Amino acid sequence: MFVPDRIIFENGTLDYEMGTRIFDHFKDKNGVEIIHSPSNKVKSYIEGDSIAQTYQNGKRTLVVSKKRIGAFQTCKPSADYMLPLVSGCMGQCEYCYLHKQLGDKPFVRVFVNLEDIYRKAKSYMDSPDRDVTVFEGSATSDPLCIEPYAKSLKNTILFFANEPRGRFRFVTKYADVDGLLDLPHNGKTEIRFSINTEYVRSSYEHCTAVIDARIHAAAKVMNAGYPVGFLIAPVFLYENWKHEYKDVIWKLKDALPENYPYPLFFEVITHRFTPKAKELIGDIFPDSTLPMNEEERTYKHGQFGYGKYTYKKEDMRDVKAFFQKELMEAFPECEIKYII
Ligand code: SF4
Repeated sequence: MFVPDRIIFENGTLDYEMGTRIFDHFKDKNGVEIIHSPSNKVKSYIEGDSIAQTYQNGKRTLVVSKKRIGAFQTCKPSADYMLPLVSGCMGQCEYCYLHKQLGDKPFVRVFVNLEDIYRKAKSYMDSPDRDVTVFEGSATSDPLCIEPYAKSLKNTILFFANEPRGRFRFVTKYADVDGLLDLPHNGKTEIRFSINTEYVRSSYEHCTAVIDARIHAAAKVMNAGYPVGFLIAPVFLYENWKHEYKDVIWKLKDALPENYPYPLFFEVITHRFTPKAKELIGDIFPDSTLPMNEEERTYKHGQFGYGKYTYKKEDMRDVKAFFQKELMEAFPECEIKYII
């Protein structure tokens, strides 16, 4: 669970139930500074002398905001639309694609006006264009790390439980699922867990839950009847990678409940980076050892001129054959959505 160094309440947010709940939760906690920001210009509270310092200050800050409701952003291929509940996350994964998106605002921002957000979501669900509209809750965040006090996921799961034409999904590297276990979710919310080897987590996924905790949390939500999937990502090819990824897959097999009513699915994504991302990672994590040697990768030209470095063809063949075999051996009934 995220315990910030400072919480900034923007104007009007204490008029909402979530705002007062967060305030009451933290008001007497030692080491948590409470700031009431009259201007809603929160950047000045986290500015440091360098990009790395601003990032560290931001990552220790929770901003409580009211969402201005406009059109939701589309979110292909994961879902139809992003559901804007939270942005940012306490994690400090060196490879995270959010570095660029959040820029000089790397704080966690939670939105208190859930009813306005749900009203807008409902307008998409009512559209005659599709039978079911899928919303992604983690396109710009990992909302589970603030769930014990924000309860945005709990409320959203309850909202979607009674929406015949809506589905909700989110992905996480955390394990704070206890508040979700007894909810009447009606199978409308799908929870994906991002897992990796413990070597990758401890090297590059700072301030996230250990892999065993994520697996344990996945078993809990499966027992609670939620549809569940796993993202094995990003896969790194380092010495001993096959042995360690195989261990994770079999650890998962041992921990997950048998006779689960939904098809378990997997998405496997190898590590990739753009030249711009490499530069930014160097600024934020000056001591990073993230493997980004261009000579060991293939450059793939992108649609809009943004190319990226992926593993070479022969490595990718090896990765695909490995995960296909190991996953099917451990979970013969599973669906492997893709290995890329
Ligand atoms: Fe990014 Fe997810 Fe890591 Fe948070 S947990 S820093 S959203 S990759």
